[in-house]
Amino acid sequence: MSVSAIIPWVVGNWKMNPVQADACALVRSMKELLEIAPIAEAQCHLGVAPISIALTQIQAQLSTANRAVYTVAQDVSRIPGTGAYTGEVSAELLADSNIGYVLVGHSERRELFADTVEILKAKIKNALNAGLTVIYCVGESLEQREAGQAEAVVLQQICDIAAVVEAEQWKRIVIAYEPIWAIGTGKTASPQDAQAMHAQIRQGLSQITGYGETIAILYGGSVKPENAVELATCPDINGALVGGASLNAESFLQIAQAFANTQ
Ligand code: PEP
Repeated sequence: MSVSAIIPWVVGNWKMNPVQADACALVRSMKELLEIAPIAEAQCHLGVAPISIALTQIQAQLSTANRAVYTVAQDVSRIPGTGAYTGEVSAELLADSNIGYVLVGHSERRELFADTVEILKAKIKNALNAGLTVIYCVGESLEQREAGQAEAVVLQQICDIAAVVEAEQWKRIVIAYEPIWAIGTGKTASPQDAQAMHAQIRQGLSQITGYGETIAILYGGSVKPENAVELATCPDINGALVGGASLNAESFLQIAQAFANTQ
């Protein structure tokens, strides 16, 4: 399989948004727009990541869409199984609710909720062992980029998890490269800079895993319809993790269409 055979992914990270009525309206609009302008599953994987208490409700609503739209958890516990862990949701409990996808390592979790490398490794190990697909987020800060350390930081973040991913589990890993300075700021990495980093990540993945040519590497950081077409033409950018623009059904699906058109 070559990189060009990777089906792109476009995943909306709703973060701590929206209220229930708006989430339902958003899904309704997505379903209506997908009826008017269908996007084939073979052209683009689609997913949305709502707040945890809305996961099963959104999943039920999406089950009547004209195509698969995955429901993605925004986080998972570092503790496996069940037990006396107040406030936690384990990978097994997500799987038990048929939630098959999870974000791990988003910079907001790393920075605001002290998700250390050891915690992220535990989360990824549990998620993979429970059968989930993990969208693992990596990315450098502005200071690291300005110090010329962007590549080293990102490759280290990939190496960090290698010890807990078994060979056959790499097919359930998707990487999302999200430069921290581009998240929610309106600043996007230029397609050239993003492509260069994605190519480095792929090379690193090939060295570590041997599956570099088959792993989808998404770009995240102020992706919108206006910049999606150019990002989508980059050979090593296999989709997008979208924050702000995913809260508008039309914008989100325009981004998905930009990636689907490359197939
Ligand atoms: C994100 O939080 O994953 C993200 C990419 O956000 P935004 O698109 O708003 O920059």
